[in-house]
Amino acid sequence: MIENPYIDTYRNTQTITRTFNALKTLSKNLTKPLKIMEVCGGHTHTIMKYALPELLPDKIEFVHGPGCPVCVMPKNRIDCAYKIASQTDVILVTLGDMIKVPGSYGSLQNARAKGFDVRFVYSPLEVLKIAKENPTKRVVYFAIGFETTTPMSAALLERVVALGFHNISLHCNHVLVPPPLEAILSAPDCQISALLAPSHVSVITGSQIYRPLLEKFKIPIVVCGFEPVDVGESLLSIVQQVLHQTPKVETQYARSVTAQGNLKAQELVQRYFELDDNFYWRGLGEIPHSSLRLKKKFANYDASILFKEHLDGIAKEEHKGCLCGEILRGNKKPFDCKLFGKFCNPQNPLGSCMVSSEGACAAYYKYQGIRPA
Ligand code: SF4
Repeated sequence: MIENPYIDTYRNTQTITRTFNALKTLSKNLTKPLKIMEVCGGHTHTIMKYALPELLPDKIEFVHGPGCPVCVMPKNRIDCAYKIASQTDVILVTLGDMIKVPGSYGSLQNARAKGFDVRFVYSPLEVLKIAKENPTKRVVYFAIGFETTTPMSAALLERVVALGFHNISLHCNHVLVPPPLEAILSAPDCQISALLAPSHVSVITGSQIYRPLLEKFKIPIVVCGFEPVDVGESLLSIVQQVLHQTPKVETQYARSVTAQGNLKAQELVQRYFELDDNFYWRGLGEIPHSSLRLKKKFANYDASILFKEHLDGIAKEEHKGCLCGEILRGNKKPFDCKLFGKFCNPQNPLGSCMVSSEGACAAYYKYQGIRPA
């Protein structure tokens, strides 16, 4: 009996079997193998949870992408958060998984164990309550995330300004989806044949943001929902596009995504944020115009200016043995990492991909356990 048509329909065993059987039949006509990057960590988890790689035809392979906001956050940004948290009379606030990612001085969880006031929230608006209860403290919201969460930070700022809070600042680490994809697809050795585009981001931005990527790289791009049937249908669309040589931007997740996206949210973001010159990505290095910063007229609320003297000179280095960077570029998989399972696990993560609930290493660990012999 179907109880929730928005979920059960897309998890139905018969439909999954039928879709992947159709994919197997259709893919016999492929003349070369396809590497399909699922950009979003949410898709990685669906793929591993439902063991979808086992249903794939031989000619199709998934590679994981840079769409997990915690995973792409480099160590130097975590070090910035740690430094800010260590200042007198500061309360550092961030979203869930971020507090577990290791930095050079330790994670934000370690900072809290040392006695610094670090808190995590489910909604940025909780910052208002914290600031109201602590009028003598500076509350710094360490804002992370792709286009999905930026409107929430903008909504926080709107209230901060309207309500006249003077003890709230924002450390902006909001990043954009298309620039890292462009960087990955531009690499001379890139073998990615198609993209499963992220759906939460696309709800806000609309599927239109992928058009420049289509025009430049001429590969199928399908905005895909988060259930196994969504993934199967998206793969069918990709194979059809490849066979007919008609690459396009298609929205499989049409129950939530439109071409234009959420115009109100986009307008709210534009009111407070602008493109930053550069952002240093974990595994991808510097990518120009790939992140956002606060507009100059809101500089009073910008923690990167307020704490500048403490943040200057923080090094941009990653853990030497960790393959997160290679995984985020689609070049390696979690089982390729020698540290996987043994030295790096969710209880003791060495890299961000093992921390986040959207991380590829966390997905492999949760659904496949330790590395196969
Ligand atoms: S298993 Fe750990 S160390 Fe290895 S790539 Fe994943 S997060 Fe990095």
